[in-house]
Amino acid sequence: MKIDLHATLRAHNTFGFDVSADYLAYLTEVSDIPLFIQKAEEQQAQWQILGGGSNLVLAADLQGYTGLMQIKGRHLLDQTDTHVFIEAMAGEDWHEFVTWTLEQGYGGLENLALIPGTVGATPIQNIGAYGLELSQVMDSLEAFDTQTKKWVQLTAADCQFSYRYSIFKNDTKRYIVSSVCFKLPKLWQPNLTYAELAKAFAEKIEKKQEITPKDIFNKVCEIRSAKLPDPKILGNSGSFFHNPIISTVQYQKIKERFPNVVAYPAESDWKLAAGWLIEQCGFKGCRSGYVGVYDKQALVLVNHGGGTGTELLDLAQQIQNKVFDTFGVKLSIEPVIYS
Ligand SMILES: Cc1cc2nc3c(=O)[nH]c(=O)nc-3n(C[C@H](O)[C@H](O)[C@H](O)COP(=O)(O)OP(=O)(O)OC[C@H]3O[C@@H](n4cnc5c(N)ncnc54)[C@H](O)[C@@H]3O)c2cc1C
Repeated sequence: MKIDLHATLRAHNTFGFDVSADYLAYLTEVSDIPLFIQKAEEQQAQWQILGGGSNLVLAADLQGYTGLMQIKGRHLLDQTDTHVFIEAMAGEDWHEFVTWTLEQGYGGLENLALIPGTVGATPIQNIGAYGLELSQVMDSLEAFDTQTKKWVQLTAADCQFSYRYSIFKNDTKRYIVSSVCFKLPKLWQPNLTYAELAKAFAEKIEKKQEITPKDIFNKVCEIRSAKLPDPKILGNSGSFFHNPIISTVQYQKIKERFPNVVAYPAESDWKLAAGWLIEQCGFKGCRSGYVGVYDKQALVLVNHGGGTGTELLDLAQQIQNKVFDTFGVKLSIEPVIYS
């Protein structure tokens, strides 16, 4: 296991914040995971795992051991009459993996195309986009339990997934995911539950034309590229705040005051569009030093270059305060904060 001392993490977080790690360990083999924990514990040092760094705010240097997840590999594990089971190692790039599954003829992950990051991080916040959440396609995962020092297999049910949530969010230091197994249907059906996708394919459906997984993949990539900044050009972590879920009573009160409020039914509650709330408070496109709010989507905070995590968190706090004062709604931050 290669370990660098005082390594910069600038290229390992999509905000491009220039912080460093005391020890940066490159995890390239499954056996590196217990070794990494052993090293950190021997030195009574703190430790953390980084994937692609696309859901993090690094607001300070990382002390102790930082493990960069780089374990590669993907293969068809098993199949039944109805499903294929595909396993991917935690360090695989998520979008490349989705692309590969389609090339192999396995549809089912296309709605989650172009989400940055690694396969191993996908269960952590139960990634979701365009009408699909990881919880609907994940079968199980393998992880190292850092408490018992044993390898465990967790099913999707064990992970207790909900909107941007899993058990890993409660206890960030317990499990290190080494691989994820996906269960994809052999009889593929397009998932057009997301209104924008349904609209894009309405004509094909009406004319009874074939829709392929690749068609959906291409459309998702097209929509995402138009809406979200490319982290290689403008540092960001995608949506910075969760869309708040509120009761029907609270929703009705907001609707009375703001008839144009953007919200969607979420089981017996309502999910508010956090981007709309932020935009109404006048933050869209604003700039504070080297950080700011993206001018095409107020839910995305950006680093224009040279900004710091602390500056970004200050701006996030201003946004949270203003949204709360205006709507009485608390915005919670999506990325994991290291400060
Ligand atoms: C432009 C852009 C668009 C995005 N769009 C979406 C979207 O549509 N939907 C969505 O859900 N998210 C989205 N995201 C957020 C992000 O891409 C996902 O959350 C992604 O899964 C994070 O992967 P990562 O490898 O970069 O994780 P990191 O940011 O490196 O880590 C995130 C957390 O997971 C932990 N972690 C990482 N790997 C492991 C592992 N192997 N075992 C245990 N813990 C681990 C880390 O310790 C950290 O706490 C977007 C981000 C960007 C920049």
